[in-house]
Amino acid sequence: MSDSVNAWADALESVIAWKQRQRAEHPLTYLFWESTLRCNLFCQHCGSDCLRDDSTAARELAPEIVCAELDAITRQCDPARITFAIIGGEPLVRRDIDAVGAYAASLGYTWGITTNAMLLDQKRLASLKASGLKAIAVSLDGMAEQHDALRRRPGSFLRVSDALRRLVADPFWRTFDVICCVSRLNIDHLEPFVDYLAALGVPRVRLTPVFSRGRADAASGLMLSGEQTRQLLAFIAAQRASRTDIDVTMSEEGYWGPNWECRIRQDFHYCGSGVNIGSILYDGQVIGCPSVSRKFVQGNIRETPFLDIWNNAFTPFRQRDAVAAPQCRACAHWDLCEGGGCHLFDPADSGVETCSLRKIGELWE
Ligand code: SF4
Ligand code: SF4
Repeated sequence: MSDSVNAWADALESVIAWKQRQRAEHPLTYLFWESTLRCNLFCQHCGSDCLRDDSTAARELAPEIVCAELDAITRQCDPARITFAIIGGEPLVRRDIDAVGAYAASLGYTWGITTNAMLLDQKRLASLKASGLKAIAVSLDGMAEQHDALRRRPGSFLRVSDALRRLVADPFWRTFDVICCVSRLNIDHLEPFVDYLAALGVPRVRLTPVFSRGRADAASGLMLSGEQTRQLLAFIAAQRASRTDIDVTMSEEGYWGPNWECRIRQDFHYCGSGVNIGSILYDGQVIGCPSVSRKFVQGNIRETPFLDIWNNAFTPFRQRDAVAAPQCRACAHWDLCEGGGCHLFDPADSGVETCSLRKIGELWE
């Protein structure tokens, strides 16, 4: 074997060994709080269970419950190593997340939000800044025609663009990026979109193919074909190879094999759901990352402290061969892929292809 092949083999071995250590030690580095299921939009492609009405508001966690959990976690873990991410629904529909975030910051956590930015006006941005917010991920799914159609809200593209301009204008917001869900509606319009973001001064865009969850089921007509998925991979690889004005990257989304892994993102595929990433859902249920099926809920903080659940449950996330699709266990890619991301383990539509490599025709044995 040549030196470079040997070096690759060593690098892959160390990735596999590192993943095994993570499983065994499961250090919490990312804690999501799904603050609400309420949302001010009703997007075609939403993968969460979000709602426009207030029917779930009464079951939302009070701020003091979340703050008590944050406190308890600091007694066993170093908060400086944990990012506390507040999501929804749309988190900005709750006014009290600013106070929870401020409390998290006072304990030493870094905190951030993922938002559709419809409520991210100057006043709210100032409040978040005063509360110690450090990271913002803004959802924007293409240029006006595609974004407004997916979001079912004319004018939403312009509103998000205004919020992005505010973020770009203030050097305080060094850590923000755009998340774009790629579907059949926008796959053929990505280049002008990335050009637009770069011209605005957005530092990074994460592209993530729509997956079968929530309203994004097979009947939605949004799912990418295998050919369109390859088109997305090739687009990201070409953008990464050719431009320095914006970082274009594939979001996590499973394992894409030797042809693509090192060309579409900085790091190799790794799903830390339930290993490094835990979530407290709107009603107190505890799960891995918020994208996984609710079938994998591990407990509820209304009954058991988060860290007791984190330390004593989560077996399906840490022993993936027990829950991945049967064909995965005998697959030659298992050590690197492990069945892809956990979010693919229980799709809303059972007929959908969850093996990324098979989908793009590159599942070679
Ligand atoms: S069958 Fe597909 S999803 Fe399963 S381990 Fe192999 S490459 Fe990964
Ligand atoms: S389940 Fe999916 S979205 Fe969640 S951490 Fe794993 S790859 Fe990422």
